[in-house]
Amino acid sequence: MTKPFVHTSYPSRVVFGPGTLEQVAAEVELLGVRRALVIATGSAQHAADETQAALKELFAGRIDGVRQHVPTEIAEAARAKAREVDADGVIAIGGGSAIGLAKAIALTADVQILAVPTTYAGSEMTPVWGETSGGSKTTGTDLRVLPKTVVYDPLLTLQLPLNVTAASVANALAHCVEAVWTEKANPITKTTAVEAAKALADGLRELLREPEPANQQRLPSPAEIGARGNLLFGACLAGSALASAGTGVHHKLCHLLGGTYNLPHAETHAAVLPQVTRVKAPEVPRAKARLEEALGTDDLATGLFDLFTAANVPTSLQALGLTKEQAKDAAARFPGDVEEILTRAWAGTRPE
Ligand code: NAD
Repeated sequence: MTKPFVHTSYPSRVVFGPGTLEQVAAEVELLGVRRALVIATGSAQHAADETQAALKELFAGRIDGVRQHVPTEIAEAARAKAREVDADGVIAIGGGSAIGLAKAIALTADVQILAVPTTYAGSEMTPVWGETSGGSKTTGTDLRVLPKTVVYDPLLTLQLPLNVTAASVANALAHCVEAVWTEKANPITKTTAVEAAKALADGLRELLREPEPANQQRLPSPAEIGARGNLLFGACLAGSALASAGTGVHHKLCHLLGGTYNLPHAETHAAVLPQVTRVKAPEVPRAKARLEEALGTDDLATGLFDLFTAANVPTSLQALGLTKEQAKDAAARFPGDVEEILTRAWAGTRPE
């Protein structure tokens, strides 16, 4: 029997499929945006050029280059640019960093966001924003920052290097795993998370079987496009599970590590997730079993660790540059007992 529960889902429009970048201009028009500011990550310049041309008179300006964890000075400069060009819409093409910058603008100005994600971080599906100042990251939830439309085009992700891909998939899997045990977790977030985990693990395994593109000219195989589609679909579901379930100990710990010691976001998730899972997953045995089935493993924590290792994602914080003293310092700062988790994550111990 399904137990009583409360679930909040967030309103957004999703346009999904290879080649959907071409639909961005029409989607912007549908939103009623008259002056669109384009934000593009370094790797998305070509996609941004195409979008800029297709927008014609709706194009108002462009910001190239973004930084992880949205440093306040970058956010302030982006807000100033949005005011200067009188933007009423922001198109963010890139990973969580580009989308995060668009959210920083929407937090203080009346703009609608259209997101074109090129990683699997999932920020496009959430009303969560983050900003980093003086070595400390502040996050919050505000409906104004939720993208109104999300365009998922797997073709834009074909050049994402395998190591960045795998770490980003680990980030998305962290949303899935945590969405089964947070206070707001419910049957909808759990089912969404399980489906997301399956798409992500299948997509990553398919991709690992494909040779990495040697150059930008090589034509992608149908299997590669299929795998990339699976990964983006998984990221979409994982992001929406995170949006509704909220964050728990895993994300809070990763935000502390990322904001305070400037660690790379996705890789930090990969190092911490198996260790948090080892401790927390036994509290939710049924969801744990469903996730294990989705991932094709008989133990969630070691299954995640082994998947990340097979994909060459670093599974220790030490490898990301965190010192042992910083790991101890982080454990002392965190409101809760995470010393064992951090000790193991720092060393990269297999979570048996
Ligand atoms: P990112 O956006 O910095 O991208 C990672 C790297 O991949 C960058 O070097 C980027 O240039 C490159 N890249 C991106 N797309 C590419 C592509 N298609 N081809 C080649 N290279 C590409 O990192 P991320 O992991 O996507 O996002 C991390 C940020 O997002 C963090 O600041 C994190 O806090 C935030 N985030 C927020 C939420 C939320 O709900 N608010 C959720 C997840 C992540």
